[in-house]
Amino acid sequence: MKGIESLDVTGKVVLLRADLNVPLDGTTITDDGRIRASLPTIRKLTERGARVLITAHLGRPKGNSYAERAAGGPSLAPVAARLGELLGRPVPLAADVAGSSARAAAAALADGDVALLENIRFEPAETSKDDAVRAELASKLAALADVYVGDGFGALHRKHASVYDVPALLPHAAGELVLAEVAVLEKLTRDPARPYVVVLGGAKPSDKLGVIANLLGKADRILIGGGMSYTFLAAQGYEVGKSLLEADRLDDVRTVLADARARGVELVLPVDLVGATGFAADAAHEVYPVTAFPADREGMDMGPATRQLFVDKLADAATVFWNGPVGVFEFPAFAVGTRAVAEAISKLSGFTVIGGGDSAAAIRRLGLADDAFSHISTGGGASLEYLEGATLPGLAALA
Ligand code: ADP
Ligand code: MG
Repeated sequence: MKGIESLDVTGKVVLLRADLNVPLDGTTITDDGRIRASLPTIRKLTERGARVLITAHLGRPKGNSYAERAAGGPSLAPVAARLGELLGRPVPLAADVAGSSARAAAAALADGDVALLENIRFEPAETSKDDAVRAELASKLAALADVYVGDGFGALHRKHASVYDVPALLPHAAGELVLAEVAVLEKLTRDPARPYVVVLGGAKPSDKLGVIANLLGKADRILIGGGMSYTFLAAQGYEVGKSLLEADRLDDVRTVLADARARGVELVLPVDLVGATGFAADAAHEVYPVTAFPADREGMDMGPATRQLFVDKLADAATVFWNGPVGVFEFPAFAVGTRAVAEAISKLSGFTVIGGGDSAAAIRRLGLADDAFSHISTGGGASLEYLEGATLPGLAALA
């Protein structure tokens, strides 16, 4: 994969696909991590006198037409403002994605300028399953620019017009963020330092069965916590009460358990749980061993014996990949297990990688420094699909 040094960008309009999909509270950005992560590529391009035209998505606009989606938002306006602050120069926002305003924004760029196109997902064609529909939008986007740079790591697993189709139409290269993220994933996949320990949590096993299946061939130990662990416990015959359960995945989970045994991979499950009377921040709760979990309780966190077990199983790790909180960390009373896992990983001197938006949010909420980890990925879904062994459409398109 070629980097931006391979492109002649001076005086050229560079269409940069970035991942600026930040969490919003109304129109306030609550975490600008993805904007910051996009700065190295933008700066490298502007320093070389490129005219940088950025396309990006934000949130999930609803509606069947451009007009409906644009009316409902979210607009990239707060992102343009924040990007302008971080770059120390104004970043004008086009009023459309690939129409007259986008063309005017491209034409107005001087060497070293940056402008942003409106939310690409206002265009229903961006995510269309119909190749011809995407191709039409892609050709309009390509017509705005001379070259293309793909740096939206968090969207690389999507076969979307701005990610997959545009690079086929223009000279292209991968941006700094994509190269950095892929280097980390390669390190996790090719000959990782051992022991290689994976911690998986989050709500549902169905999100992560694919990655578990592939990691069984790579990791030495897989620790499973959080909402997804209850389906594993149920598959072994334990009562899980009112906890999250994917009953239709019990067979898949049994297959994973048998596969782990056959391959000699240690699969570690909770031995005790914090069971609450309901899903609420202030729900009454107690610790129960998994062998005696009451039918009327809901699992919200792992118990103290499991915390110690996970900390012990992480202690000798030379490589760690962690995806998914191991409890309902959004409620402080049930963030204890997630804190224990995060702190244990932060103290390791090996190669430690955090993937997943909620996991990264948990680390920040718990007040742990980003630099306590080797890498915090900006793209949970893309990282997981890569580790599943899938070909990411956006990555293939940049080759
Ligand atoms: P990431 O974004 O890091 O990939 P996921 O999206 O897979 O993580 O999962 C995060 C969600 O899982 C959080 O909202 C968290 O509350 C939820 N979760 C974790 N443990 C539990 C549990 N025991 N019961 C219900 N939800 C849980
Ligand atoms: Mg998530």
